[in-house]
Amino acid sequence: MIVRKSRAELEAMREGGVITAACIRMLREHVRPGVTTRELDHLAEEFIRSRGGTPEFKGYQGFPASICTSPNDMIVHGIPGRYRLKEGDIISLDVGVRYEGFVTDSATTVAVGEISPEAQGLLDVTQECLEAATREVRPGNHLGDIGYAIQELAEGRGYGVVRDLVSHGVGREMHEDPQIPNYGRRGSGPRLLPGMTFAIEPMITLGSYEIKIDEHDGWSIYTADGSLAAHYEHTIAVTDDGPWILTLEEGVDSRRKSA
Ligand code: MG
Ligand code: MG
Repeated sequence: MIVRKSRAELEAMREGGVITAACIRMLREHVRPGVTTRELDHLAEEFIRSRGGTPEFKGYQGFPASICTSPNDMIVHGIPGRYRLKEGDIISLDVGVRYEGFVTDSATTVAVGEISPEAQGLLDVTQECLEAATREVRPGNHLGDIGYAIQELAEGRGYGVVRDLVSHGVGREMHEDPQIPNYGRRGSGPRLLPGMTFAIEPMITLGSYEIKIDEHDGWSIYTADGSLAAHYEHTIAVTDDGPWILTLEEGVDSRRKSA
């Protein structure tokens, strides 16, 4: 069942979304060669708690850290640790914050110093996929329109769209119905209604869409072919005024910008 949120609940989610967005901006500012992913994790936890939130990932199904840090061919769910960022890396930073009973979920992929034109192209297309998907988040559209927009754009330019991991509903729980594949057919699936809230997260690769899970930690998910992967995510509400990106910082009129 897809849980719809009231206007007041959306406003509460929005407050948490501002914390999530500010945390991601803070992390971006700390990304540089030599920084370990554990340092980023500590910065994030301290930041989230200082703003009155809790890091939703910590303890989630036993996850041992506050954020996910996934460099290069790692797609998502990387555990922060001793890995030291180096010039030319790309790294996905994924942040989930619980605030006033609601979760917001957002991710970005950051270049560490100078990166290759191929890597930059991957970041650009993945961001464009998220923007294209966001434009579909409006009443009357179908759930499949979101995945269609992502797949059409990415595959049209020769990139891979990860299929075994999905975008998802989000609200009182981090993962609510529905599951939203990042591929699909236009006009398929349930109709979108005001008050639905989704974490839309395209995961795009320079190679194939096949994945493999790290056997040792049980969390880290890599591209099976070792190609680079990028990942962007926003928590977005369906409203009568169009898509409302909840995970942007204050001062940005997200509805107008994305409508
Ligand atoms: Mg996330
Ligand atoms: Mg998510």
